[in-house]
Amino acid sequence: MKLTTFDAGRGPRVGLIASDGTLVPIHDVIADAPLDMLGVIAGGDGLHARLRDLAARAKDGAKLATVKLLAPIPKPRRNVLCVGWNYSEHFAEGAAVRAQAGAPAHARAPAQAGAPAQAGAPAQKEIPEFPALFSKNPATVTGPDSPIWFPAPHSEQLDWEVELAVVIGKGGRDIAEDRAMEHIFGYTCANDVSVRDVQRRHGGQWFKGKNFDSHLPMGPWIVSADELDPAALRLQTRVNGVTKQDSSTKFMVFKLPRLLREFSAGTELEPGDIIITGTPEGVGFARKPPEYMKIGDVVEVEIEGIGVLRNTVQGRS
Ligand code: MG
Repeated sequence: MKLTTFDAGRGPRVGLIASDGTLVPIHDVIADAPLDMLGVIAGGDGLHARLRDLAARAKDGAKLATVKLLAPIPKPRRNVLCVGWNYSEHFAEGAAVRAQAGAPAHARAPAQAGAPAQAGAPAQKEIPEFPALFSKNPATVTGPDSPIWFPAPHSEQLDWEVELAVVIGKGGRDIAEDRAMEHIFGYTCANDVSVRDVQRRHGGQWFKGKNFDSHLPMGPWIVSADELDPAALRLQTRVNGVTKQDSSTKFMVFKLPRLLREFSAGTELEPGDIIITGTPEGVGFARKPPEYMKIGDVVEVEIEGIGVLRNTVQGRS
């Protein structure tokens, strides 16, 4: 099932995306349903089974074009957990060579060395033993078709990063890898918007450059884990219709079970926590010459089986 958060003038509410592509407020079908997505996620297997059944049968809801969609979890209770570098350096290094070959990047095998490294890639040639971790605060989260604020006067180096976002359904601490997938409620698209010079400015600490307001668009909905195999999903970024990133989640270095193990080590994960899982090559700063987004640019991230998340860069007064 697909679950979205929308606002029809009465504050955030949760809706099902019906089989005909329309939006059905869950309160229209379950009178005592929780008001928000965090409540729905915490509602447990019984509620989820009812929603799954209704999603298969619901139809004739509101047309999506008439509804304001928000981020699926518009205001997470805690920071969003992030992986700083998670697609194989070999794959990134081969990007230029593979591009010359002319085939779509997602269809090519990781291979040759000799091309630029990807966002935040460590200097070493070896794949690190542990993933790089950081977080984005809840105020970074924004929804489909909402503005991404241009970072002037602090910077003009505004970059994109398509990422698969994982929504935790069942909490836990010290989660074992062989049980990790049981903790996932579903998946959505994320754009880990980054301010590159600020990201590098603070002694190797990425937090500031990753935490400008509105710099974590997510959506357009959560696809429940029972309906999506995250192992090999094509993920892409387009800026003004031009493809910038085009890869597959199969090139993740640290797979989802390992990431859940790392984030939950000594730390209780809670239902509704979100993990964004790293970006493949094709980010702006690593291009030659470097490319950054400017005011008026339209950026779309798309993940196979989930959908398209579109935002426009706007100036902030
Ligand atoms: Mg990222």
